[in-house]
Amino acid sequence: MRLSYSAYKMYVDCPRRYHWVRLKKVPSVKSSKYFALYGITVQRFFEYYVNKYVKKGISLTDVQIRSILRQDWEKILDTEYVIWDDPWCKQSSEEIFESIYEDVLSNTKEFDFFKHARSEVIYNIFLKKSQDELHGRLDFVITYPDGTVEILDGKGSTKVEKHVDNEQLYFYALLYLLRNKKLPNKIGFWYYKFQKIQYLDFNMDTIVEFKKKFALVKKSIKEETQWLPKVKITKACKFCDFKADCDAFLLTKEANRIKRGHSVPNPAEGKMVSFGF
Ligand code: SF4
Repeated sequence: MRLSYSAYKMYVDCPRRYHWVRLKKVPSVKSSKYFALYGITVQRFFEYYVNKYVKKGISLTDVQIRSILRQDWEKILDTEYVIWDDPWCKQSSEEIFESIYEDVLSNTKEFDFFKHARSEVIYNIFLKKSQDELHGRLDFVITYPDGTVEILDGKGSTKVEKHVDNEQLYFYALLYLLRNKKLPNKIGFWYYKFQKIQYLDFNMDTIVEFKKKFALVKKSIKEETQWLPKVKITKACKFCDFKADCDAFLLTKEANRIKRGHSVPNPAEGKMVSFGF
């Protein structure tokens, strides 16, 4: 079995969804990527910046950064599906681009770890005993000259600590541990919009506890036969492509509606009309 953090998380959030997405491979419904545009573009810029330019000792002027971003932005707009007419699309494409440009510049000026970093680092760890493979793609791994190591996950969110999922970083620390026989010194979320890195407190006990939980989930996936839905008032259901025919979700939604004081809808009144065709 090959397991990434996103697969683990999907199963923990809802086995039914895992079943359809990961096992049955039902293609996902095309949805607007408006909210993801910022994060995708900034992340891609820093991937090139670290792996291509800084690595080769090439320093970029603000004008060159703008030009690189502009070229990539056009490509991203061509490939990502966005419904600009949606009521929650408050910013135009140009406004988003300008905020990306400003934030990229601020981040390049704020931090000085780039020359020690690698971006989009892939870890595939084969576990001999279980014959399983753990897979992860780490946004940034920074190895300082004194040997200390940091793992960072980039976030394009508009609020610090919004949607924070500490286990994601524990998983990366576990991958690092399994490969290097030691823990990274620091793990943290890098919030592009705020030029801020939020480090997590962790130690070997934290990662061992997470490893145990991960092993249990892995076992559970292997032995699973029911794939029962697990309704959560989180984005797991909100962004689930299978909610329209998910009885568990619809029942919970109705129960919550009633709890909020809304009565059961009246049955339709009037006569049945038959169409003559
Ligand atoms: S709507 Fe929620 S409970 Fe139903 S399958 Fe999707 S994630 Fe699971």
